[in-house]
Amino acid sequence: MSDVINCLTIDLEPWMCFYDNPLLKKELDSGSLVELTHRIMNLLDRCSAKATFFVLGAVYDWYPDLVEELAKEGHEVAFHTYSHRRVVSRGLLLQELRSAAEFIERFCPTGFRAPQMKLPHPLLEVLSSHGFRYDSSAYAAVGKPVAVACGSQTIAEVPVSTYPIVGEGKRVELPRTMLDSFKSLEIPVGSGALVAMLSAQTINRIIAKLNEEGRSFIAFVHPWQLVGVHRMPSSLVERLAKLPYLKRIDEEKLEAILSQHRFETIESLVSRWRKKF
Ligand SMILES: [Zn+2]
Repeated sequence: MSDVINCLTIDLEPWMCFYDNPLLKKELDSGSLVELTHRIMNLLDRCSAKATFFVLGAVYDWYPDLVEELAKEGHEVAFHTYSHRRVVSRGLLLQELRSAAEFIERFCPTGFRAPQMKLPHPLLEVLSSHGFRYDSSAYAAVGKPVAVACGSQTIAEVPVSTYPIVGEGKRVELPRTMLDSFKSLEIPVGSGALVAMLSAQTINRIIAKLNEEGRSFIAFVHPWQLVGVHRMPSSLVERLAKLPYLKRIDEEKLEAILSQHRFETIESLVSRWRKKF
């Protein structure tokens, strides 16, 4: 097995977050997030893998024991905002950080991921000044953390993997959305949608090739993808963008991927990278 660290990350949010501006209510979840997260934890355990969970502050309010359990099992607890609103401004990010004060004080997360993978670049400075050491809200084929200067500090951007159809895709200009990766003829193989659509065999081939080149595979999934999506959004644009999520992710598929390669937390990847940096 290659020594390169790959990261499977889980955006720990209830199924409502599939929709834009979700109405977050614990009654609507009725415990399904706990059940699905336990299934993911058992899977990780079977494959001797550790993962990074980007946790919604609201989920910690609903299910504090679940988040405690993740930390106890050695998984990384990172931050995915409090309410899953799009982080469009400094004021909004500060508000989300304030709402999740209890969660942040308890877990001191060093990693952040913005809802819908969209974070205005200047806000990295806000994250850095609040003790975050990395962000993972961009798409790129670089396969390793990228240093971003924030005043006197450096924050790491850890992009979710894309796979270039042509060229090497090693150059990266941040921030970079899924649309940017498509424009550069790169397939966003690490997105939950592509993890659902591609076979385990294809993903394993991609990981092997990346690892051979010393690059990491960084991917994300959502717990609700284990059961799939039953109702599509009403707007046509959103509906088309989210079509791939109609496909459920089989646990057997994730197991076939996790058991073949080294999977650890993003925190481990960033620590290793900082030593060389
Ligand atoms: Zn999310």
